[in-house]
Amino acid sequence: MVVCVQHEDVDSLVSRLNFAEKVDRSLRLIREAYEAYGDRLVVAHSLGKDSCVVWHLAKRVSPDIKGFIVTTRFKPRETRAFMQRTVARYPELKVYSNDQPIPEGLYETDPDLCCELLKVEPTRRAIAEMDVACWVTGLRSTEGRTRTDFQEIEERDEGLIKLNPILIWCEREIWQYLAVHRVPVNPLYARGFRSLGCAPCTRITASPGERDGRWIGTSKCGGECGIHTRPLKIDYEI
Ligand code: SF4
Repeated sequence: MVVCVQHEDVDSLVSRLNFAEKVDRSLRLIREAYEAYGDRLVVAHSLGKDSCVVWHLAKRVSPDIKGFIVTTRFKPRETRAFMQRTVARYPELKVYSNDQPIPEGLYETDPDLCCELLKVEPTRRAIAEMDVACWVTGLRSTEGRTRTDFQEIEERDEGLIKLNPILIWCEREIWQYLAVHRVPVNPLYARGFRSLGCAPCTRITASPGERDGRWIGTSKCGGECGIHTRPLKIDYEI
């Protein structure tokens, strides 16, 4: 059994469904995908608030669901500590990184290449090594201008289903779920960050957009690291 790629009116779902309906829908999406793909369904946990929701939902579907975390040498100290606590609690989360040398200041001179090397490459490796058929993300359509063109179930890479089970949730509903279920989050949110990334590329802002504090001052401002936009399924020699 496989799940079917969707073409839904995402904007309508965002505004039409209430919080409880969205939670039920997300649980159903994960459950159906887990029934279809079993152990080959894997959650990509970014350690952000949205991933914390997806991970909690996935664990409600089955405690056996596994995941991976991609980290970089530039993650803030608080994020590294939060990752250690998260992995200690959930050892089924496997950590990936790319520790190869890169040019100094690459995040300023060529942030696209920096993200490609430090984020996209380890994500590709995780998907290959964990033999992933369906990866589950915390992507949301209302997060910013670059996130409006996604569906809950996609196949951007042939043979690799991408499940975005909280695509239609709003920021407020994320915090509502985390509060109701007392899910721990990265302490950087308490300092005012709304979207978390690497330290040199993430700022607290007063701008309205949730991702406006990412890559400020570069062409990538408010944009993407590439894991949601670039091909992820490539042949690795494992
Ligand atoms: S977010 Fe910044 S430091 Fe992190 S990988 Fe991308 S460009 Fe490099």
